Amino acid sequence: VTLRIYYTEPNCRTFNATVTTAFDYQGRPAVTLDRTAFYPTSGGQPFDTGRLGQATVVEVIDAPEIVHVLSAPLTAGTSITGEVDWQRRFDHMQQHTGQHLLSAAFDRLFDNRTVGFHMGDDVSTVDLSRDATSIDIERAVDEANNAVWNNVPVAIRFVSQEEAQKLPLRKEPTREGPLRVIDIAGVDLSACGGTHVERTGTVGLIAAVAWERLRGGTRVTFVCGARALRVLRMYRDSVAASVRVLSVLPAELPAAAERLQAEGKDLRKQLRSAQERLAAYEAVRLADGGADVDGVRLIVEVLEGWDAAGLKAIAAAVTAARRACVLLASSPPPAAVVIARSPGIAVDAQVVLRELVAQLGGRGGGKPELAQGGGVLATAAQIVSTGRSLLETAIHGSASRS
Ligand SMILES: [Zn+2]
Repeated sequence: VTLRIYYTEPNCRTFNATVTTAFDYQGRPAVTLDRTAFYPTSGGQPFDTGRLGQATVVEVIDAPEIVHVLSAPLTAGTSITGEVDWQRRFDHMQQHTGQHLLSAAFDRLFDNRTVGFHMGDDVSTVDLSRDATSIDIERAVDEANNAVWNNVPVAIRFVSQEEAQKLPLRKEPTREGPLRVIDIAGVDLSACGGTHVERTGTVGLIAAVAWERLRGGTRVTFVCGARALRVLRMYRDSVAASVRVLSVLPAELPAAAERLQAEGKDLRKQLRSAQERLAAYEAVRLADGGADVDGVRLIVEVLEGWDAAGLKAIAAAVTAARRACVLLASSPPPAAVVIARSPGIAVDAQVVLRELVAQLGGRGGGKPELAQGGGVLATAAQIVSTGRSLLETAIHGSASRS
């Protein structure tokens, strides 16, 4: 059985050990040791990384022996030095100890139990059994930070199951045999196998960054220590950039964004109505052009500054005004393409469009009288020549059928 150094000496970063077994773990080299300071993933806290001799420790698993998955194989029986990546571990200790304080605060203030804990790469979450309002959450965060700033010791105790029964443990033990209990003086007492800082002050700061309702309870997302500073910097940069762009004070940002959104909506509405009127003029101009193919007016044009909806409106107006087949494309690429034909012409716009995008790229679909495509990356000249030739063929075909 591997001696877990981190149980009693969570600050141990380098240690000497002997490789007890060397084997293949799911296709990767792995070893067990007689003793280790590497923490395996468990209880919501991720594994440590670091070095074992010449090899890099890429994962540590509690299976139930501590399996160190390595970048390169080691030989059983060799003596090696292990070194835990301390930046990563220290961060985990800050988050994990902060979680104890936060969970203890919810428990004490609102009798709201923590039923889940997950430590992610950027943020961590606690899942509370019951609903918590934003006021509750901020009160618990304040309470937890007071425990940080009181800088009380975090002690590790080992107790028997019988002793544990008599202790007011916040977290019920899930293991058999002697228990490891984390005793944060006057604040929290819970059975836990994780790694923690030695005094609460080392957590630095606890901040809730988000919360949401989840399965009848509340999930609180939080950051501690250096992560809190990282989040603060991210928010600062993002607020500073927004404030610069919008020329408002930070507190005015939400209102400014809402105003912009409303203005954008208004402008889009105005643009739509102007486009509709302009489409009518464009349709009149286009209906006069084109060439006669077997008694059908064939009009193929690339129009700058129109979107698919505008092209559709123009094409529909042209095919209503005269007996015509129309292909309109937007510019610049990627082009929207609209194909339409007047009633009574046996050309299937959808089939022609499908052939066009098959040749030039893009996608689209529609009905026999009107089809619409997008994402066509061909040049205007390519769209015009391909579209014209496809439509001419289709019109010839329709004439020979009738
Ligand atoms: Zn813990």
